Amino acid sequence: MRIREALAAGRELGVDRLDTQLLLAHRLQRTRAWLLAHDDDALEPPVAAQFGADLARRAAGVPLAYIVGEREFHGLALQVTPAVLVPRPDTEVLVDWALELLPPEQPAQVLDLGTGSGAIALAVKHARPAVTVVATDVSEAALAVAAANAKRLALEVDFVAGAWWQPLAGRRFDLVLSNPPYIAGDDEHLPALRHEPRGALTPEGDGLDALRQIVAGAPAQLVPGGWLLLEHGYDQAEAVQALLLGAGFTAVTTRHDLGTQPRCTGGCLPR
Ligand code: SAM
Ligand code: GLN
Repeated sequence: MRIREALAAGRELGVDRLDTQLLLAHRLQRTRAWLLAHDDDALEPPVAAQFGADLARRAAGVPLAYIVGEREFHGLALQVTPAVLVPRPDTEVLVDWALELLPPEQPAQVLDLGTGSGAIALAVKHARPAVTVVATDVSEAALAVAAANAKRLALEVDFVAGAWWQPLAGRRFDLVLSNPPYIAGDDEHLPALRHEPRGALTPEGDGLDALRQIVAGAPAQLVPGGWLLLEHGYDQAEAVQALLLGAGFTAVTTRHDLGTQPRCTGGCLPR
């Protein structure tokens, strides 16, 4: 099989052209540009077989990041497995907001609740090496992926297992970030996301339970003047604003994602 034919096989299976190129580039350890310049080259049979299996998985809806084992987030190459949510570009909005609140070279205690691949925690630590970063998850399998990412990137993050605030009793933070599961249990989009861990996507019910628990516990775990920044569903900004105001937060505001949906809401605990 030649490279040209391999790329045509993707089209026949209905796999996106870019994804097909990225899968073949990954198998050959070459760039997409190299592929296009060598479309008459023959593939070694074992490579062709592996590529065929990759294409079949992609055609079945497996995220590209799980097949190639990697996803870029906020400039960092993160390894991902089906134990963790594939980090989304929208979540970079949350990280950028955090970086605005953290002056460079100033120490601060930062917490990432529900860290998954470690995306938020590692991006903050990478951009602000002076801060101390704690990251939690209820999934031990996710924490193992996050810890391996931290090690490979040589970024120091303190990983803690447990449900939301439970493992953090008595600790106070200057800034708390979370992209919790927020999709409603009966949402029509969940079946399309079936390859990712259900517990990373939905807290079941109306989708707000994790956000409620995080907001309810936050005042006891933030220093006065500390900030809580949350990612949420496109239709949850009003509900999250109400939760924050009800818990006594001020300066409550919402920011939009790259698709211009209201996506992150945060507030400050009064001094
Ligand atoms: N922070 C990562 C990101 O933005 O890519 C992952 C976010 S994913 C939407 C939510 C994460 O919260 C998952 O890793 C999931 O295991 C974790 N989680 C779910 N329930 C939790 C709980 N009760 N306590 C702590 N973490 C929880
Ligand atoms: N934003 C993700 C999606 O819609 C869901 C992530 C989450 O529930 N926090 O695919």
